[in-house]
Amino acid sequence: MECNRCEEPSVMHAAYSGAHLCEAHFRESVEKRVRRRVRRDDLVPHDATPENPQTWVIGLSGGKDSVVLTQLLYDTFEEDPRIELVGLTIHEGIEGYRDKSVDACIELADDLDIRHEVVSYAEEFGVEMDDVVEDDPENMAACAYCGVFRRDLLEEYAEKLGADLMLTGHNLDDEAQTAMMNFLEGDVAQIAKHFDASLGPISEREDQDAFVPRAKPLRDVPEKEVALYAHLEDLPAHITECPHSSEAYRAEIQQLLYDLEENHPGTRHSILSGYEELAGIVANRYNGDDEEGADLRECVECGSTTTRERCRKCSLLDALV
Ligand code: SF4
Ligand SMILES: [Zn+2]
Ligand SMILES: [Zn+2]
Repeated sequence: MECNRCEEPSVMHAAYSGAHLCEAHFRESVEKRVRRRVRRDDLVPHDATPENPQTWVIGLSGGKDSVVLTQLLYDTFEEDPRIELVGLTIHEGIEGYRDKSVDACIELADDLDIRHEVVSYAEEFGVEMDDVVEDDPENMAACAYCGVFRRDLLEEYAEKLGADLMLTGHNLDDEAQTAMMNFLEGDVAQIAKHFDASLGPISEREDQDAFVPRAKPLRDVPEKEVALYAHLEDLPAHITECPHSSEAYRAEIQQLLYDLEENHPGTRHSILSGYEELAGIVANRYNGDDEEGADLRECVECGSTTTRERCRKCSLLDALV
């Protein structure tokens, strides 16, 4: 097959758009989608200047998504003194998995010469995920502990590093799955929160004083295309799955979306665009009667923002040690 835009051989076919693209045109199309998303989500504020640059902290896990995001943001802003990129890597303490992906992060940050911080559950909390899985005092899935610890460290370090924005490498498949899960759980309040936390254009979000705003500029690019981009660019990405991965419900939704996409190409795109529009509408509707915000306070033990007396992380850590 030939590329639709030139005479080179095509390296990919996107059933949802009908496009066949050669390597160069495929790369260009990924880059365009990410830049368009950065623009549409208003990620660069109008008052950013070289003297007062924005610090963008990228959650860099070493998987293909965060590695591709980091590379693309670097290429986009390399010559732009208004944006400073920092990579933030979290080491959960998972034998045979995280060590290699941390190496991938270090290699990339070295190649690009960007600031890079590695923080670990072991140093910060005195626990490693491998032991947490063994102990399991709350009888929960591994990811339920891990998610609480990760969110806590991302928040803390985003703050410490002076982040204006926290970026993560969620791709189209991830976000379409999350959208479906929120729909199917009937959790409209969660949909509204999603808009204000990471999905809406920055200028349209309700101010979240307690939290650094998040963004997901890779969310228009399907997972397979992210993987192909990483491969073509020969990026240092670590591909294996975490051995404790336990998100059974998400895996079910993922399979459902694969099947739907196969028979109805474009399903992921339409789910996400419909979801984003709805999220904007419900966020508007929920804002104003914002009881959630009024209940926020500081954890008595660690001082992080929480709705309880002691935050979830501190309770989990108490149960663990
Ligand atoms: S899959 Fe679960 S346990 Fe593994 S790193 Fe991710 S959140 Fe943690
Ligand atoms: Zn071409
Ligand atoms: Zn706490």
